[in-house]
Amino acid sequence: MKVKQTLVQTIAAVYVSLLLTSWAAAQASRQVSITIDDLPAAASNFISAADITRMTSKLLTTLRDQKVPAVGFVNEKKVYKLGEVDERIKALEMWLDYGFELGNHTYSHASLNRVGLKAWEDEVVQGEPIIQLLLAQHNMKLRYFRHPYLDTGRDLLTRREAEAFLVERGYRIAPVTLDAWDWMYAPVYDDAKKRQNAALEQELVKSYLSYSDAVFAYSEQLSVKTIGYEPKQILLLHGNQLEADHVGELLDVMRRRGYRFITLEDALSDPAYSLSDTYVGEEGRGWLDHWAISQGKPPQGGPVFPQWVMDRAQKLRRPQP
Ligand SMILES: [Zn+2]
Repeated sequence: MKVKQTLVQTIAAVYVSLLLTSWAAAQASRQVSITIDDLPAAASNFISAADITRMTSKLLTTLRDQKVPAVGFVNEKKVYKLGEVDERIKALEMWLDYGFELGNHTYSHASLNRVGLKAWEDEVVQGEPIIQLLLAQHNMKLRYFRHPYLDTGRDLLTRREAEAFLVERGYRIAPVTLDAWDWMYAPVYDDAKKRQNAALEQELVKSYLSYSDAVFAYSEQLSVKTIGYEPKQILLLHGNQLEADHVGELLDVMRRRGYRFITLEDALSDPAYSLSDTYVGEEGRGWLDHWAISQGKPPQGGPVFPQWVMDRAQKLRRPQP
C-alpha cells in the first residue's frame, strides 16, 4: 500500500511538474510580427517585372505555407516602369490574394528628416492610390504606415505634426523593434548569384542568419533592460531575393528562440507601443532605442555588423533602399 501511494504521488508530482513546465513555456513564448518594406521590390530599378513576380511568389508561398502573417509596405513609384506597370501592380496584388496586407511607405521612399514636413506629407498622399484601390477590391482599408529609413523627424514638433497628419488620414504607424539589416546583405547576395558564386552565396546566408540571431538576442535583453519585459516584437525585412530564398531559415532561427508569429494588429496591442517616446534625431532608429533614449539611457554594445559584408556592399555602390 505504502509503495503504491508513493508511486501515485510520484506520478502526480511528475504530472504537475509537466503542467508547470508547459505553462511556463507558454508564458515565456515570444511573439513577433513580420513586416516587409520597399515593395514591390527593394531593387526595383535593377530587376524585371518577371523577376519581381517570381521573387514575390516564392517569398509569399513560404510565409503562407507556414501560416506566418505579414504586412508589406509599398513605394508606389517603383510600379512605374515603362511597359511593366500592370505586371508590377499584379505583384503587389499577389500579397492580398495570398491573404497578406499592404501598407504605405511613401511614394518614393522619402525621408521625413531630409525632405521636410510638407513634401513628406505629399509623399504620403502620393503613395496611396494603387494600394488603396487594391485593398478596397479585397474589402480592406489602408491602415498602416512605415517611415522610410525609420526617420521619424529631427525635432519633436515635426515628429508630432507628422504623427497627427498620419492619424488624421487613418494610419497607425508601424514601429520596428527587430532589424538585422537584410538590405545591406541583399545587393551582395544578388551579385553572388549573378556571378554564380555559390560559396559566397552560402557564406552570406550563414552570416545573415547568425547576425540576425545575435540581433534578436541583443534586442530581447535590451527590451527587458529598458521596459522590464519583452514586448510583442516587430521585425523589419525587405522585399529582396535573399528573403525570398531564405526567409524559411530565418523563421527557424526565430522558432528556436521561442517565437511564434502574430499579426501586426496583435503586436500593436502591446502596451509598449503606447510608452512615452520623445526620440528625435538625424538617424532613424528602432523603437527599443527610442524608449531607451527617451529614458535617458542610450543603448550601448549591440552586435557589430560584419565588416566584410559592408565592404562588399559599398563596392557595389547600389543606393540604399
Ligand atoms: Zn524602406
